[in-house]
Amino acid sequence: MVVVGGGLAAARTCQELRAAGFTGPLTMLAGEARAPYDRPPLSKPTSETGSDEVAVELGVDWAKLDVDIRLDTPAVALQAATDGPLIATAGGDRYEAAAVIAATGADPLLPDGWLTGDEAALRGSVLTLRTFDDRRLLDARLADPAVAAVTVAGGSWLGMEIATLARPWVDSVQLVEQAAWLLPLLPPEVGRAVGDWLPAAGIRLDLGVAITAVADGGDRLAVSAGVGSWQTDLLVAAVGVRPATGWLVGSGVRLSPRTGAVKVNPKLAASVPGVFAVGDVAERWSPRYSCWLPGGHWQDALDAPVVVARSVLEWLARPAVGSGPRAATFNRSRSAVGGYDAVPYFWSVVLGRTLQWTGFLSNYRVAQMIVRGDPSGSQWTMCWLDEDDGLAAVLACDRPRDAMGARRLQAADPAGAPRMAPARLSDPAVALRDAAIGGGR
Ligand SMILES: Cc1cc2nc3c(=O)[nH]c(=O)nc-3n(C[C@H](O)[C@H](O)[C@H](O)COP(=O)(O)OP(=O)(O)OC[C@H]3O[C@@H](n4cnc5c(N)ncnc54)[C@H](O)[C@@H]3O)c2cc1C
Repeated sequence: MVVVGGGLAAARTCQELRAAGFTGPLTMLAGEARAPYDRPPLSKPTSETGSDEVAVELGVDWAKLDVDIRLDTPAVALQAATDGPLIATAGGDRYEAAAVIAATGADPLLPDGWLTGDEAALRGSVLTLRTFDDRRLLDARLADPAVAAVTVAGGSWLGMEIATLARPWVDSVQLVEQAAWLLPLLPPEVGRAVGDWLPAAGIRLDLGVAITAVADGGDRLAVSAGVGSWQTDLLVAAVGVRPATGWLVGSGVRLSPRTGAVKVNPKLAASVPGVFAVGDVAERWSPRYSCWLPGGHWQDALDAPVVVARSVLEWLARPAVGSGPRAATFNRSRSAVGGYDAVPYFWSVVLGRTLQWTGFLSNYRVAQMIVRGDPSGSQWTMCWLDEDDGLAAVLACDRPRDAMGARRLQAADPAGAPRMAPARLSDPAVALRDAAIGGGR
């Protein structure tokens, strides 16, 4: 069995394969030189953990799990074959696998044409944040007395977290977002509610500004946008990611034409037999919402591996193929696998406030928004109800009970949108479960 990738989803998949009774050889081909680690701490201040270096350990006992981890061994190609997929690595090795689980995550985007001039030289001052080494470099640059001004490109959660990180180090921190409000993938009310936070913390916020080019301007960087240009010492781009599926191009594995993600069914199986995908690299079909859901959330990378592991083992045990040695490598007593159809959930910490999102909002324009608390205050929850008063989505700001209450209610509802009584819901003193109209749908 080969797991390709070296992040949380890869680590959790190895754990779950062993927990499900798989005793055969298990290899992990990891792109980085570091064993799997946790990414959310990379964009959070270390002062919260009281340490100088960011804490990312996953606490996995690899020797006990008996996983053959090949670090710094990125896969470059996959080829379907009768006995199972073949994988080629950058070093020229080939691996024959009974099944492959793709867990290669995503790579940060730097838009084409942004860097003008000596790209290699610019990359020292134009950074992205995805890996432990990226964070080390960012810390080093922020601590450099020559860095007096930082521009963060992208008003996403990550962009806001990076601006938060930079602020104690640098006097001039500017966040630039091309859309008209922060967090443009979410309803504008959210962007408006968080919009004051950055200026209040001394971070300049420029909305509706699209960077078009970044050039070497002598000692500093010259940043151009439609509205003009300015100089900065460091630019950190948080303008999105692309699933890391270059190694699957041409393999026959169906990829999303829009995002490049691996399309998987609820059992997390890809279009080529014996190939599965999990975590940020996958786009899964959700029966609950009747649509494709992208990866990108830590919670999926944590929870979906239990399903992918069981799906793989079920597939290996299929009657017509692999009788004999494959079938003997795991415990058959496991029941047939259900799919993975979790309600989307993620969190972020911005300027010390914890924001938690749960649910799925297909069109905020037709949803009724109910606010619990005052969004100009420190604790509030925004709720979006569908046309049947179903609780489609919730964003809680420093109200973890609301977030957890909503998650429980949504998970228990087949459509992920439990019916609520709007008047009770609007009272922040009423617990969410007490605002639900029993029975679900
Ligand atoms: C800075 C940062 C902060 C975040 N904060 C939050 C947060 O607060 N809340 C939240 O919900 N989510 C957060 N996330 C998202 C969360 O960390 C991801 O959803 C999660 O890490 C996904 O795990 P993964 O294993 O699928 O992918 P990754 O963690 O991306 O791991 C993929 C691994 O595969 C390797 N790889 C890539 N290509 C190949 C190849 N061809 N061969 C072999 N290996 C390969 C990569 O090098 C990488 O090590 C954050 C992400 C980042 C980057």
